[in-house]
Amino acid sequence: MIDSGLAQISRALAAREVSSVELTQEYLARIEKENSNLNAYITVCNELALEQANAADAVRSKGEAGAFTGIPIAHKDLFCTAGIRTSCGSRMLDNFISPYDATVVERFKQAGAVTLGKTNMDEFAMGSSNETSFYGPVKNPWDHSLVPGGSSGGSAAAVAARLCAGATATDTGGSIRQPASFTGLTGLKPTYGRVSRWGMVAFASSLDQAGTLTQSAEDAAMMLNVMAGLDQKDSTCSDVSVDDYTAGLDKPLKGLKIGLPKEHFSEGLNAEVEQCIRDAISEYEKLGASIQEISLPNSHLSVSAYYVIAPAEASANLSRYDAVRYGYRCENPVDLEDMYKRSRSEGFGAEVKRRIMVGTYALSAGYYDAYYRKAQKIRRLIKDDFQQAFEEVDVIIGPTSPHTAFPIGAQNDDPVTMYLEDIYTIAVNLAGLPGMSIPSGLVNGLPVGLQIVGRDFSEAQLLNVAHQFQLATDWHTKTPDNQA
Ligand code: GLN
Repeated sequence: MIDSGLAQISRALAAREVSSVELTQEYLARIEKENSNLNAYITVCNELALEQANAADAVRSKGEAGAFTGIPIAHKDLFCTAGIRTSCGSRMLDNFISPYDATVVERFKQAGAVTLGKTNMDEFAMGSSNETSFYGPVKNPWDHSLVPGGSSGGSAAAVAARLCAGATATDTGGSIRQPASFTGLTGLKPTYGRVSRWGMVAFASSLDQAGTLTQSAEDAAMMLNVMAGLDQKDSTCSDVSVDDYTAGLDKPLKGLKIGLPKEHFSEGLNAEVEQCIRDAISEYEKLGASIQEISLPNSHLSVSAYYVIAPAEASANLSRYDAVRYGYRCENPVDLEDMYKRSRSEGFGAEVKRRIMVGTYALSAGYYDAYYRKAQKIRRLIKDDFQQAFEEVDVIIGPTSPHTAFPIGAQNDDPVTMYLEDIYTIAVNLAGLPGMSIPSGLVNGLPVGLQIVGRDFSEAQLLNVAHQFQLATDWHTKTPDNQA
């Protein structure tokens, strides 16, 4: 049963074919067996999970169960969980136990979900391969010598290896979509403001957004139904009304206008990956969609603008780690300054320090206009490009990543090569738009992801577009053991 997707599991629970306790025990047994190898979980919550599963079964026997009651999921380790360590993949927070739950965690609790554990991630969500984690790299279940993508690599590996039914994740520049692409999953990054950020450890606050990693679009819709909506605790959380995301999945795609950004089909895109994407486009034509080329003329500036804006915000957000109230503190500080310096030097890893330095520099008095203000202007141009494109088309599709998963260690020497990982995804965050990645082929036995981007708050449409593809194809059902 635990190989099934979340929606199937929900139906099996409703039909009493299986109990939440049985499911939870099965997942915990598989985690016990596989996790030492994959390193997908930082923390496994055996006792809590069984307690929650028991409670869920009791709710069901009273006839009060909802669609999510008793479904075992995992949370990326940057969502605060009361009483359970929230490390954010960093030594800095290795000893941090939050006194409260993030809104996302709270909503899943309210819906009756079971928390299996907290998943591994790049330190403070900075990375594209899960190799910056203080807890070590995560292995790609498709091939253990490869990265699962990042920063939500633990969530991706956990779902791909069927160590949970679905997982929460976050995407600041591509951290849901790129790991989804590398591990054969459906990744959903909602519109900025669709899901509350309250209780998420902040990286770049104007870009961070919570979303999901699942086997299918239907599963993602079920998770978004739980997560989405206004939260008084996050002033950037939107009051735009929330759709029933599972209700619109079956709409036919006839008449859908799809745009292909020519900038996403140029030099740098692996030829075999491109072929998978072209095949997916043909599939959409068969489903009744019309295809036209569009242009996002400023997209080549997106990575540069992001690597000014995101580090700038990170440098401000991470200034809170002063070793005074919580987090890592160095041994025997001689005075306050020594405590700040050594705690931060020892508590943060190299990539995090690089970002703090870049961000502090970009925000400093002499350079603010040259870097930060300039980057904000580019951000506006990028948003305008999308706005213009969406006057002609309903959704924009293309590759999620220029290639399939790469070997662990292969891109560690040059941070800029790693930064270019998000070449097709980052602009979507700068514009605040919703985006998905869905499996759309295999190249040399490794998954390829198709990115779908929509207008603000068009999650229902994106999920519909993804679901129809998944009804017509079986790429999303492929697993590392079953590629036939
Ligand atoms: N890879 C990008 C970065 O390192 C994006 C990370 C993310 O989306 N959290 O910043």
